[in-house]
Amino acid sequence: MTDKLYYICRYAPLELFAGFGTQTERLDPAPLNFDCADGCSHPNLCGFGKAVIEDVAARGIKRLLLTDCCDVCRRLLDVLERSLGMDFIYLLPLPHKAGNAETKLLAADLKRLAAAWTRFSGQAFDYRKALEACSENRAQPERDVPHVSLAGAHGGSLLFETVKERFKLPVTDDTCTGARVLAAPQSCADEESFFAEYAAALLNQTHPCMRMYGSLGTLPEDANARGVVFHTVKFCDYYSFEYHNIKNSKGAPILKIETDCTPQSSGQLRTRLDAFAETLDAGVKRVEKTGSNGSARYTAGVDSGSTSTDAVVMDANRRVVGSSIIPTGAGAAAGAAKALAEALAMAGLGREDLAEIVTTGYGRENIGMTNDSVTEITCHARGAHFLCPDARTVIDIGGQDSKVIRLDERGHVVNFVMNDKCAAGTGRFLELMARTLEMPLEKMGRLGLEWKNEIAISSMCTVFAESEVVSLIANNTQSADIIHGLNMAVAGKTASLAKRLGGGPRFIMTGGVAQNPGVVKALEEKLGSRIYVPKEAQLCGAIGAALIALEGQDGDA
Ligand code: SF4
Ligand code: SF4
Repeated sequence: MTDKLYYICRYAPLELFAGFGTQTERLDPAPLNFDCADGCSHPNLCGFGKAVIEDVAARGIKRLLLTDCCDVCRRLLDVLERSLGMDFIYLLPLPHKAGNAETKLLAADLKRLAAAWTRFSGQAFDYRKALEACSENRAQPERDVPHVSLAGAHGGSLLFETVKERFKLPVTDDTCTGARVLAAPQSCADEESFFAEYAAALLNQTHPCMRMYGSLGTLPEDANARGVVFHTVKFCDYYSFEYHNIKNSKGAPILKIETDCTPQSSGQLRTRLDAFAETLDAGVKRVEKTGSNGSARYTAGVDSGSTSTDAVVMDANRRVVGSSIIPTGAGAAAGAAKALAEALAMAGLGREDLAEIVTTGYGRENIGMTNDSVTEITCHARGAHFLCPDARTVIDIGGQDSKVIRLDERGHVVNFVMNDKCAAGTGRFLELMARTLEMPLEKMGRLGLEWKNEIAISSMCTVFAESEVVSLIANNTQSADIIHGLNMAVAGKTASLAKRLGGGPRFIMTGGVAQNPGVVKALEEKLGSRIYVPKEAQLCGAIGAALIALEGQDGDA
């Protein structure tokens, strides 16, 4: 337990509490689970709300200042008061705008808060001390140079550090609990004028939160921002709506990420951040085409996926001279070493002939054969452009995830979306359904084209879809019709990702599911467009990695 007063929002009047000599600290929750919160609150409370409950319970916090930002903050007041027995918990009303009337309202509410704190703590307020705290230097030098802005909902140190680690540019924390820069009140002769000026300063922070700029439909101006990572929280309606308002605003490219304020899914988060970083900052690297003795140089790309590991060896003239596709098995490193050895053997080469190796895929950072790893988003884009230069949308359905990538005419990533949260619409989904139908995947791929009657599979959740399939089998429905229903369900989910991204022809399909003609046909129907499926579809990521090893991320495409 501590005497500090904790707060959750950057509109909390910290300087006011400095006027009491009270120490304040921002709650920075990153719990591993929501065991306590699930037991005492509604399951649909946003991830941040649950994380606050967990943190308050785990650390025995008894003094908390909430700001009345949304329903969740009001529910937090009820739950924490009732379930965790707080000594001091206060919900500060917060206006949505920074006009004269709102400033007056906030000034009156700040006075009420000060009176409540005096009653609770017995401490007296000294407005001169508060003024002193207002004049502390809160300069943000990162904002004056090219940087990446982490914006959106409550970020916290965990997210901020994760984002900082993935970008070469400095990152500013502009989330609703991030940077807090207020202009110091200038001419306060007494306590009364302090409250009026301080309320105005709080409401007019230089980088306002969504609640203050929410009606503008655009992010606050940030001339040096080269990219924006926009954070939304699971079950938070506000920031998801806000993203829809601002996503088309002119300015820096935007990547939306969602977390539940726990460290879960940090692997997928890193892939998204890395892919975005690669689109902002394509490195230029070029391998010498001949060695010192004049011999041709080779590069390799290794794609370590959750289901298969693919390797490609490429010569200096961009010809694939060796390749291999093997099951990943239990260890990513062993699978990668085996796939590369097989590709080298096919090319009649040894490791010493390779000038450069680039790894990609979920296991890319755990393979240990090189320090050069690039996300599968960039590698698939590069490989797809190589295999089909006029492709503008890549559809990659792999073992555990599916992604849609929009390309420009040089094969650079314009934007991408990923479904990596569950098996719905992925190769794994089809694999499990093939098992339920008791047939190999290859047969399922062929049989899906022979359907006669339209069957709708209503659920994309693997568990529910499986029971639907079992019922259809029990009703003697033809296997071909069931498979077609499943193919249409996968195609519908993927087509909606493509639609969300604004992807258009020419479409190219990569990844293992591209080998399934039933899914490809269903997807063509949903998209209303032909899809090009190269014979190297499954090697596309490894080909992209080998090309990047040869030419750098910009390449000479
Ligand atoms: S949205 Fe604004 S008011 Fe709400 S918690 Fe974040 S900073 Fe505070
Ligand atoms: S994440 Fe959204 S719902 Fe949750 S407290 Fe913040 S603004 Fe409210």
